[in-house]
Parts: sequence; structure tokens; C-alpha cells
Amino acid sequence: MNKQIILKSRPIGEVKVENFDILQVDVPKADKGELLVKAKYISVDPYMRGRMSDGKTNIPAFELNKPIIGGTVSEILESKQPGYKKGDLVVGPMAWQEIQSVQADKIALIDGLNVPPEYYLGILGMPGLTAYFGLLDIGKPQKGETVVISGAAGAVGLVVGQIARIRGCRVVGIAGTDEKIKYLKEILLFDEVINYKWERNLQKAVELACPNGTDIYFDNIGGPISDAVITTINKGARIIICGQISQYNAIDQSVGPSPQIILMKKSALMQGFSFTNYSSRYPEGFQALSTWLKDKKIIYKQTIIQGFENLPQALIGLFHGTNTGKLIVEV
Ligand code: NAP
Repeated sequence: MNKQIILKSRPIGEVKVENFDILQVDVPKADKGELLVKAKYISVDPYMRGRMSDGKTNIPAFELNKPIIGGTVSEILESKQPGYKKGDLVVGPMAWQEIQSVQADKIALIDGLNVPPEYYLGILGMPGLTAYFGLLDIGKPQKGETVVISGAAGAVGLVVGQIARIRGCRVVGIAGTDEKIKYLKEILLFDEVINYKWERNLQKAVELACPNGTDIYFDNIGGPISDAVITTINKGARIIICGQISQYNAIDQSVGPSPQIILMKKSALMQGFSFTNYSSRYPEGFQALSTWLKDKKIIYKQTIIQGFENLPQALIGLFHGTNTGKLIVEV
């Protein structure tokens, strides 16, 4: 028995379980240069929503009736490539399929850093590197500055807030459940936290949380949350457009306030980015993040859902705030 999850239809608006199908497929054979691997942990990420649609994005759309592809940690069952052996763990983009053959040169070996292997899908993978380069390279945080983060309890947001604290900033997080708010305030020691679902006037709430204004806004969410935060920026502020998850299911382009006049008046910078822009500097980010983890300067949090067949529901859950920290499915 070998299960595979394919994209059956392209979602219109919100993703539904009907957009996926679970198939039984044969166990493949590994050819020269390939590895036969068994999936252990599969990453579920917001960008996957974009790949389910057919429009133009920065990465190609998933093909209909083909398996979804996502970051995965797998164990080698059989190796046809020198340097890799049975039992080794590898990480990289793989199909949503329990057992598959992969080209060895398209994935990386996990070398024991004494962290759980699924960390390579989070803090030591895309979300961690995104937080590191986005905040430090674009935000350039200075001691005493105020950093506001939307999606603060998510995989990227949690790391951004903790790096900002390491840099001596005042950290204000925005998230959508009381449990997340408590975690950010009591465990991660954010200076202020705002539950955007409870606030009637979000702009006022941000003003109260940021008496000295906002110097850096790390935006994971977009939409009305960002409209509110951007009204509070200081002169010379940096707005980092990391993600816009509130817009990923939108059928029509949302029309909100135009921030240009605020940016002009405040001589502020607004910059989007992809973590892949920094591929030549991954070793630097990896080194810093693993050191902070080892020194317990960063606390890492994951939400782990059990069961391969729960992947579609897990992806849907990202858009309903079910996760605190990195969302992973354990196969
Ligand atoms: P995540 O924050 O772990 O998960 C998504 C969270 O977003 C949910 O738990 C939910 O939290 C919040 N959310 C979902 N829909 C929302 C809505 N309509 N309005 C307000 N909040 C909503 O995801 P992540 O992996 O850390 O990614 C965060 C953002 O960074 C995403 O936009 C992603 O696309 C982006 N990203 C960008 C790059 C890059 O290279 N630029 C790389 C990785 C990720 P609440 O309970 O708080 O609502």
C-alpha cells in the first residue's frame, strides 16, 4: 500500500478537501542516482495555495491530477547514489506520496545537529531563513526600535519576533486567538500583543501598543490588518512584505487604502522579497539560527498533525489559524 495525494481540481476561493484525491499507487524502483525514500514529516505552507491556482506566480502551478509537491523529510529505504545509505534522513521538495524515488542531487542529507529532523522544514528551513533575511536585511532593526509583526504566532512570525528581541527591539505581535496571544506574551515575552479578531478599532489598538510609533512592520498577512499598522509608521520606517495570506483565497483583487502618500510623507520603505533571493547566503542564516536555538535564545514551536491522509485538511487549516508555529504533518 502506497498512498499519493493529487490535485484533483483547482480551488476557486477557499481550498476544499474536494480539490484533492487520495490514490493507491505502486511502490516505485530507484534507478542510478536515485533514492527510494519514505516520507516522515511533510511541511504545509501558505505558498502552496498559489500553486494550486493556474495564474501567474513566481513558481509554476501544480499540475492537475499530479501529486502536490512540498518540503518533506524522508528516510532512505534504498540508495542508488554513493554517499547516501539506508536509514539516512533527507530533506527537500518531494511529492505528497508515502514512498517514492527521488533524484539524490535534488535533495539534501540531514546531518545531525541534535535537533528533531522536522526542524529542517521550519526554523532551519524556509520559514526560519525567511524571518532571518527579511527582518535583518530589509528591516535593519536597531536597538530600541518598535517592530510590529502580523501573523506573529505563525512559523515565520514567531522567529521574526524573537530575532527582533535579540536585536534589542520592542516587539508587538498581532495574532488571531487568545491562546496564541498568551503564548506570545508569556512564553516568548513579546512586549505587546493584539488579537485582531477582538479589536473593533485595530489602528487605535496598534497606536496604544506602540506609543513611540512603528519603525518596522513585518507583514505576513496584508489586507485590513496592514492598512491599520501602516497608519502608525514613523519617519524612515521599513515595511517588509513577506506574505499576504489574507488575500490568497480572494477571488477578486482587494481594493484598500493606497499607502503611497503615507510612505512619501514618512520617507518610508516598503519592500517585498522571496527568501530564495538570499540563496547564496543560506549558510549564514542557517549558522545564526542554529546557534540561537542551541543557546536557547530562540524557542521553537510546531503544530504537528498526525496522518498522511490529513494533509489536505492541514493545508486548509492554515487559512483558519489552526496552527501555532510551524505546521507539519507526521506521516
Ligand atoms: P503561518 O503564519 O504559520 O500560518 C498562517 C497563519 O496566518 C494562520 O495560523 C493564521 O493565524 C493567519 N491567517 C490566515 N488567514 C488569515 C486571514 N485571512 N487574516 C488574518 N490572518 C490570517 O504561515 P507562515 O508559514 O509563517 O507564513 C507566513 C506568511 O509568510 C505567509 O503569508 C507566507 O505566504 C509568507 N512566506 C513568505 C516567504 C517569502 O519568501 N517571502 C516565505 C515563507 C512564507 P491567526 O490565528 O493569527 O489568524
